[in-house]
Amino acid sequence: APSIVWFRDDLRLADNPALRAAIDRDEPIIALYVFDEESDGIRPLGGAAKWWLHGSLASLGERLAERGGALVLRRGPAGRVIRDVAKESGAGAVFWNRRYGGAERAIDADLKDGLRADGLTVESFAGSLLFEPWTVTTGAGTPYAVFTPFWRACQAMPAPRAPLPEPREVPAPGRTPKSDDLDDWELLPTKPDWAAGLRETWEPGEPAARARLRDFLAEDLGSYDDSRDEPSTGSTSRLSPRLRWGEISPYQVWHETAEARGTGAKAASAGRFLSEIGWREFAAHTLFHFPDLATKNLRSEFDAFPWPRLKPTQLEAWQKGKTGIPLVDAGMRELWHTGIMHNRIRMVTASFLIKNLLIDWRRGEEWFWDTLVDADGASNPFNWQWVAGSGADAAPYFRVFNPELQAKKFDPRALYIRQWAPEYSSGEATEDAIVELGETRKRALAAYEEMRRTP
Ligand code: FAD
Repeated sequence: APSIVWFRDDLRLADNPALRAAIDRDEPIIALYVFDEESDGIRPLGGAAKWWLHGSLASLGERLAERGGALVLRRGPAGRVIRDVAKESGAGAVFWNRRYGGAERAIDADLKDGLRADGLTVESFAGSLLFEPWTVTTGAGTPYAVFTPFWRACQAMPAPRAPLPEPREVPAPGRTPKSDDLDDWELLPTKPDWAAGLRETWEPGEPAARARLRDFLAEDLGSYDDSRDEPSTGSTSRLSPRLRWGEISPYQVWHETAEARGTGAKAASAGRFLSEIGWREFAAHTLFHFPDLATKNLRSEFDAFPWPRLKPTQLEAWQKGKTGIPLVDAGMRELWHTGIMHNRIRMVTASFLIKNLLIDWRRGEEWFWDTLVDADGASNPFNWQWVAGSGADAAPYFRVFNPELQAKKFDPRALYIRQWAPEYSSGEATEDAIVELGETRKRALAAYEEMRRTP
């Protein structure tokens, strides 16, 4: 009886514990991906994410075919689809790697019970996080609310296991279950085709992900600590979409970084880089404990924040990169064109939306969700709440990023600004900027005080 490997946010062959379990079981393997926009609580993917998913599934399908396998594509509520495929194929086992969102966990738990009741072997594995959320808690057994002790506790845990090798063969059964045609899912934009910039920038799929990790460690790791905040240097790893879709695993990143670590500046950089992987873990753990992270303030006093009525023209100016604030406009245009934005600039553009425009962080989170290729159910809301001040270990609300000063500090020659918004020659706000920075900063602080006075 064949084994089903249910691929989700782990679109890779190497270091894939669910796939490894199927290979060890020594029966034909049905590699399955389910496009699920129907199950309760599942957040539909944004446009840029769908674009990435298409490319990554195409690549995974080719790689499986090269190894005697086949990727089966189905659409529908995952719980039902998996049981259908199991029945049709007479499968004896189902394996997957765990995910940590509330709705996702509920689906997986139900399915596990149902399949086991039908007599199938079902096993799930840790593949996307280095540390399972229920294993990292404070002395009092509660989740960590602050990053530094969280990451210290993680590092005191047994070291993450070594990555698993890539299988040479993934034998499909004689009769594979029928599969949708990937193109029929319409994951790619057609009219208008806004994805030209994404195609120029990215090659989704595991081989490109592995190559990027190798190149980053060989060429850029040494300068990471010094230049990671300067958007024009291109010195960060750009691995976020790879990790989001699981084209590489954090285990591979962890161990390859440890091997490349060396001494001196490079060792300091390696520690810094791994702590960013730690922030990814922290965001996922926070989602595990607070499944409403994308919609609810983690700190409930922010429920009383006096958001003024939304001005749609201001939101649109922000989305389109037409605010008259050079660093903000450059960032928003980089995002629209490439599906990614540098971390420092994400903080600046988010702070500008929330504090200078006084627009609810959720509107910004939704825009990023739709336009980022790395849009992640944990990291995106986690970081938006971080900037808003309502989240875990968040920046205090009264820290309002000043985009002019940020430009001076991190893009002193306006290289990044001129790359994405060539009409500007410096980071200074223009006369027709949609808001005045000083005034709106004061307004934000007053709104915050009003919230604090709310009983
Ligand atoms: P590097 O500096 O090379 O870092 C290595 C890896 O560490 C990243 O690939 C990422 O997986 C992880 N990482 C780094 N910083 C963070 C962080 N602050 N939080 C969580 N993980 C981190 N990251 C996402 O992956 N998906 C998102 O949807 C997302 N939304 C964000 C929204 C806002 C408002 C902000 C301020 C940040 C957001 N981030 C998000 C975090 C961060 O900006 C990106 O992970 C980073 O810019 C990706 O570039 P890189 O791979 O070159 O990062």
